[in-house]
Amino acid sequence: MKADIVIVGGGPAGLAAAISAAKEDKSLDILILERDNELGGILNQCIHNGFGLHTFNEELTGPEYAARFEEQLDGLGIRYMLGTMVLDVSSGSVTAINSKEGVFKVNCGAVVLCMGCRERPRGALNIPGLRPAGVFTAGTAQRLVNIEGYMPGREVVILGSGDIGLIMARRMTLEGAKVKCVCELMPYSGGLKRNIVQCLDDFNIPLLLSHTVIDIKGKERVTSVVIAEVDERSKPIPGTEQEIACDTLLLSCGLIPENELSRSAGVEINPSTNGPVVNESFETSIPGVFACGNVLHVHDLVDYVSEESGRAGRSAARFVKNKATAEGPVIKIRNGNGVRYTVPSFVRVNELSDDLVIRFRSGNVYKDSYIKVLFDGETKLSRRKPIITPGEMEQVILKKEDLANTPSEILIEIAER
Ligand SMILES: Cc1cc2nc3c(=O)[nH]c(=O)nc-3n(C[C@H](O)[C@H](O)[C@H](O)COP(=O)(O)OP(=O)(O)OC[C@H]3O[C@@H](n4cnc5c(N)ncnc54)[C@H](O)[C@@H]3O)c2cc1C
Repeated sequence: MKADIVIVGGGPAGLAAAISAAKEDKSLDILILERDNELGGILNQCIHNGFGLHTFNEELTGPEYAARFEEQLDGLGIRYMLGTMVLDVSSGSVTAINSKEGVFKVNCGAVVLCMGCRERPRGALNIPGLRPAGVFTAGTAQRLVNIEGYMPGREVVILGSGDIGLIMARRMTLEGAKVKCVCELMPYSGGLKRNIVQCLDDFNIPLLLSHTVIDIKGKERVTSVVIAEVDERSKPIPGTEQEIACDTLLLSCGLIPENELSRSAGVEINPSTNGPVVNESFETSIPGVFACGNVLHVHDLVDYVSEESGRAGRSAARFVKNKATAEGPVIKIRNGNGVRYTVPSFVRVNELSDDLVIRFRSGNVYKDSYIKVLFDGETKLSRRKPIITPGEMEQVILKKEDLANTPSEILIEIAER
C-alpha cells in the first residue's frame, strides 16, 4: 500500500493534522490509521461542553467538536481505516494490522504520530491495600458512564485532581452518586481553575490538598479507603488518617503519552514530557516523522491540540514536497528556573514560516511572578502573571522577525518578585 502521509491515530490531533496537510497541498494522498472503530479519540467520551471556544468560537461537546473535523475529510479526499492498529513506524513506512487486510505495510513520504496518551493505573501508583473491584481510572469511569451506560458506583472517592478527575466528580454527582472528596497529593490542584469551580465548588465537593489514599479496604468490592495528610516530602503524617466509607475509588493521577511506537522507531524522547523531542515544525529526531497532540505533551485544552497539530500537518506536507532538510542556524530552547519543559526544543530559523509558539508548564505554583524569555542571557520579553500553576499550560509567542539576529539559545524562566 502507498500514501504520501500516514497519520497514526484519528483523535483531534490526527484529524487536525490530516486536514491542514490536505489544505496545504490538495494533491497529497493522506491516510489516517485508527485502532478504534470510530474517529474522534478521547473526545467521543467527553460529552460535557466547553470545547472549541478558540477553534470554532462556539461551546461544543467533545463529539460535536470531533464531528466538525470529521465532516471535512471527504471533501478533502482524506482516506481513513478504522479498527486498524499501527504496530511499527519508520521514516518511510508504517506497519499495521486489521481484520480485513491482516498485517500490511504502507510506504509513505511522511508519518505524523498522533497516538494520544493513557492514564496512570493503580499498578503504577503503588497504593497499598486489597485488590477489590471498584477501583477505576477516571477515564475508564467516564467511558462506562458516557458511552457504555453503566454506573461504576454510588459512593465515590477520587484520588488526584487532574481535569478528568474533576470532570468525573461532577459527572458522577449528576448521575446520582455521592462524591465524598477529591484527594490531591500535591499542595495545589493538577487541573484547570475553571474545572475546580464548575465541577467541585458548585457541588460542594471537598478538595483535600496534600492528601493521599494509604489503604484500600474490601474483599470483593471496595468498602472504604483510608486517606491521610502528607508532609512536604509526600509522606503520610501519622495521626491524620481518616477512613472514608465508599464503594468506588477513581484515579486521576496523570496521563502518560503513548510512545511505545515512537521509542521502538528510535525517536528521541524528552524525559520531562515523555514525548518526542521536536523542532519548530514538530519533526522528531527521525526526518519525516512528526508528532503532535497528547503524544507529544499532555495538553489541557483540545483547542491547543488542534492548533499545534495543524502546524504539524502543514510541516509534513511541506516535507513531502521539498524533502530536503533545512540548512542554516539552529537555536536551542532551554527551560530555566521554574519551567519543567518546553515544546519545541529547538528552532531552525530558515524553516520558520510563522510566529514561533513555545508551550511549557511550570514545576510549581508561582504567585505574582514574571514569565521571562532571554536571548543568550539578555531579557527579551517579560510578562507579569498573577498566578502560574503546573495544571495550566503556558505559552509565549515570538515573532519571526524577533529571531532575525539569531541568538544561539532561548531560555524560558519564571522569575519571582
Ligand atoms: C481519559 C481522558 C479523558 C479526557 N477528558 C477530557 C475532557 O473532558 N476535556 C478536555 O478538554 N480534555 C480531555 N482529555 C484530554 C484530551 O485527550 C485531549 O485534549 C485530546 O483528546 C488529545 O487529542 P489527541 O488526538 O492527541 O489524543 P486522543 O484523543 O487520545 O486520540 C488518540 C487516538 O490515537 C489512537 N491510537 C493510539 N495508538 C494507536 C495505534 N498504535 N494505532 C492506531 N491508532 C492508535 C487512539 O485510539 C485514539 O483514537 C481527556 C484525556 C483522556 C486520556
